[in-house]
Amino acid sequence: MVRAKEILQNQFGYSSFRLNQESIIQNVLNGKDTFVLMPTGGGKSLCYQVPSLVFEGLTVVVSPLIALMKDQVDALRVNGINAAFLNSTLSYSQQEDIISQLQNNEIKLLYVAPERLVGTEVNFIQFLKKLNVSLFAIDEAHCISQWGHDFRPEYRSLSQLKKKFPSTPVIALTATADELTKNDILERLELNDPQVFVSSFNRENIHYFVEPKRNYFDRLVEYLHRNESDPGIIYTLSRDGAESLALKLQREGFSAKPYHAGLEKEVREKHQEEFLRDDIRIIVATIAFGMGINKSNVRFVIHADLPKNIESYYQETGRAGRDGLKSDAILYYGAGDVIKLRHFATIENNPEQTRILLDKLGQMARLCEIRSCRRKYLLNYFGEEAPATCGSCDVCLSNYEKEDATIIAQKALSAISRLNQGFGMNYVVDFLRGSKSEKMREHHKQLKTYGAGADISKQQWLTYLRDMMALGLIEQSEGEYPVLKLTAQSAAVLKGEERVMLTKSVFRSDEEVKQDKQQQVPCETALLNHLKETRRAIAKKENVPAYIILSDATLVELATFLPVSLSDIRKISGFGDVKLARYGESFLEDIKAYCKSNNLSSRISAKIPKRERRQREENVSDTKSYTLQLFKEGKNISEIARNRSLAESTIESHLAHFIYEGQLKVTQLVPLERILPIKEAIKTHGYHSLGVLKEVLGDTASYGEIRAVVNDWRREKG
Ligand code: ADP
Ligand code: ZN
Repeated sequence: MVRAKEILQNQFGYSSFRLNQESIIQNVLNGKDTFVLMPTGGGKSLCYQVPSLVFEGLTVVVSPLIALMKDQVDALRVNGINAAFLNSTLSYSQQEDIISQLQNNEIKLLYVAPERLVGTEVNFIQFLKKLNVSLFAIDEAHCISQWGHDFRPEYRSLSQLKKKFPSTPVIALTATADELTKNDILERLELNDPQVFVSSFNRENIHYFVEPKRNYFDRLVEYLHRNESDPGIIYTLSRDGAESLALKLQREGFSAKPYHAGLEKEVREKHQEEFLRDDIRIIVATIAFGMGINKSNVRFVIHADLPKNIESYYQETGRAGRDGLKSDAILYYGAGDVIKLRHFATIENNPEQTRILLDKLGQMARLCEIRSCRRKYLLNYFGEEAPATCGSCDVCLSNYEKEDATIIAQKALSAISRLNQGFGMNYVVDFLRGSKSEKMREHHKQLKTYGAGADISKQQWLTYLRDMMALGLIEQSEGEYPVLKLTAQSAAVLKGEERVMLTKSVFRSDEEVKQDKQQQVPCETALLNHLKETRRAIAKKENVPAYIILSDATLVELATFLPVSLSDIRKISGFGDVKLARYGESFLEDIKAYCKSNNLSSRISAKIPKRERRQREENVSDTKSYTLQLFKEGKNISEIARNRSLAESTIESHLAHFIYEGQLKVTQLVPLERILPIKEAIKTHGYHSLGVLKEVLGDTASYGEIRAVVNDWRREKG
């Protein structure tokens, strides 16, 4: 694993693994078959790319899309990794050239289409047999299953792979597979005792918005102006819709082009290419567009029409923000669309299928109509638990999630007043929470308000105070040591004449708070634009899309932390050795010039050391065990949650994990009389969606209990 981490840093320029990349890579390196379910943008590619560089021989990657192959190969090459693809777009002599490089062991990763691998060309298998193949990676593995949404018959032949190469490990990866599809994939590939890794489907950096469809065009235009340098995708239901919307946007002066199956192949490909290369900003497309779009800097995905089901919606919105930066998913919702789609969903002489499609449509419409957190609804739909509020969907961001916090505000105002408006935010919070710290002055401990807000966390207090500041209820003085002051408005609240609505608590981890702090370092937008220009010039010269050179996330870090030497740049995520050597100087020049003319100095020291971050990620695997330990010591769920400052649902899911592992009995978590009804519900409805089970069971069972019983069920059924 040491070698894998070195490769991650030196070749890819990343300091730590994401999600369960590390355990996946470990499993592959152990020579085991592996199945990976990770959301789009989660980082599946590294799961086989890193092992490919640890292994001695060749890694063969099966990929369904020719466009995607070139992209991936380009991205590897700019990192100094020798990768290649073999497909029909290459001339005969180009193919010969690659064949001979393969024979000389000069290629680490080879991308091929499935039909090439095990199709009629028996020779190719024979050819591979003579090489040293260390690993097979099957990308978009759901294509092998008829149950999936994107079945490709040519994938079927991959079932021969294990027969032909019984001792070579296989890793299969996909972003979308329900239980049925997943099992189908495992069976068809005939994997050998595969370990399955499923990641959370939450895409934190995507913010979800649903807006009314009436007169949406003006608001759309306004949005596009407001985010004028951002690339994005707008989905429409019909080809005509795509054409006419693209045209209307062009008339407004936007660089927008249509993409749909009705266009000539060349036109379609040209538009796609222009979009990938940032030559046009907006692509207005039907669902024909998307699969295989690896562009990492898509900043928004807009649905001008309602998608048919949540699966499609999630997959389409998932194309935003692969680089991890904040991105928007906006859906314009009108009830008229539901009626239109209902019509399409009705399949003659097939009531069964019709019912399924209509159900799915209904669930899609419900997402738009609920008044509670949209992210939670989405995650529950996919069988995952989520906190009640996310803080980054339109519902959570709007008034619905404000709560009457008059008493809280009164406590804060009275504390500020009793401290004679002479102390800063942190001191006020410590005072409210009754801190025993030495910094707290003795005579303050005697005041009435001391400790009056001990039941509220420090973080939450800070949020309330910031909110109050935004409302003009308090203000902060200028200067090096700002103190909190009352305002003209404070009195009415203190007297109880005015009610105060504040943003309700949102669960935030320490890590998020830390990231927030990091984000407080401002990004220099003017510099960012220079850097984008420089990247564009390099990309033109090397004839690859800009995001292959460096991601937007990397440019934002550069424009934020202003590294002024090559060793500083090393600390920026996304600079491996090769990129550093090739492009480091060009970007340094921009940054240095900018710093000079704006009289700025480097802020690289503000970047949280990578070591610290890595440590945090490593701790994640221990977090479940720690929960188990506390539970075994006799603490109950809410005690553990409080003790660890985690949500109760998180603790419940930790414990459910150990039920599946067989280390806890379900009866230790769920009272016997509740287990039976849950089991009944599972028998009728299956266990794929906790959301469905919860709906059936209503208040008779909590999510935590359902999950516990489901895991027990899964353990029993093996
Ligand atoms: P997927 O195939 O799962 O949709 P990708 O493999 O394309 O996702 O990865 C999405 C983006 O995340 C890429 O730009 C990739 O370089 C980046 N990425 C992947 N793993 C990491 C990591 N450990 N640290 C930082 N960035 C990462
Ligand atoms: Zn939300």
